[in-house]
Amino acid sequence: LQQQLLQSQKMEAIGRLAGGIAHDFNNLLTVINGYAQLLLYALKEDDVHRKKVEQIFQAGEKAKNLTSQLLAFSRKQMRQARILNLNDVIENYLPMLKSLLGENITLDIQLASDLWPIESDAHQLEQILLNLIVNAKQAMPDGGKLTIITQNCAIDQKFASDNEGARAGDFVRLSVADTGVGMDQETLKHIFEPFFTTRGVGEGTGLGLSTVYGIVKQNEGMIYVTSAPQSGTIFDIYFPKVEGTEQATRPENKEEQQNLR
Ligand code: ADP
Repeated sequence: LQQQLLQSQKMEAIGRLAGGIAHDFNNLLTVINGYAQLLLYALKEDDVHRKKVEQIFQAGEKAKNLTSQLLAFSRKQMRQARILNLNDVIENYLPMLKSLLGENITLDIQLASDLWPIESDAHQLEQILLNLIVNAKQAMPDGGKLTIITQNCAIDQKFASDNEGARAGDFVRLSVADTGVGMDQETLKHIFEPFFTTRGVGEGTGLGLSTVYGIVKQNEGMIYVTSAPQSGTIFDIYFPKVEGTEQATRPENKEEQQNLR
């Protein structure tokens, strides 16, 4: 399995660029959608051009959707951070995840019972889960297993110095693993870039993982992916534990903490 770390400087440059474009685009779309709507009001119900204007408006709305995802990637999105428990967010979201995965994918959920609190926005965390799980489902067209794990993790100096971009400290780890088709090295290099997709036209936007990346960075977290063709994929996300919320780590967790990849 290949472990890959992101080149954060490159991603930051792409983020700034994408954010700038998204911002200007959004303004233009407001004009297009506004006039399309005015035209719709002006046209009679049975006007032959009505359908075309409706299509302009609908396409404009879709474009607005894309730009708002891009803005999320470039961290300009508003967020309401609160102190929360990641397990609660996952549990609340489970019914939705189950219906999304369907019958032929089994779900294995392992939530740490003493998980440290983090400071984040529940809606953003749901967005992360949704994007990772939609991809996992697509990677397992013939069924498979999806595993979601939460865990307290103490990242030591050694891990931090061995892994570019990592820093030592206490983190809450979210792992989302699938047994799907996996990715080759070339794909892995680009997955977090906006608009990168290996799916066909109209099937993928290439914004799912760039959105996840943007949210993780906004939360001052770290993200790693482990994947190889036909060997499944694991996304590991680390969220910083909220300062000043000391909690005893159970002895049985200690061992797992040593096993940090
Ligand atoms: P999209 O899903 O619209 O293509 P994403 O940014 O979510 O955009 O994903 C980018 C690409 O990363 C996908 O096109 C796919 O090739 C790859 N990918 C993402 N998640 C997985 C996964 N769990 N298993 C295999 N490939 C994946």
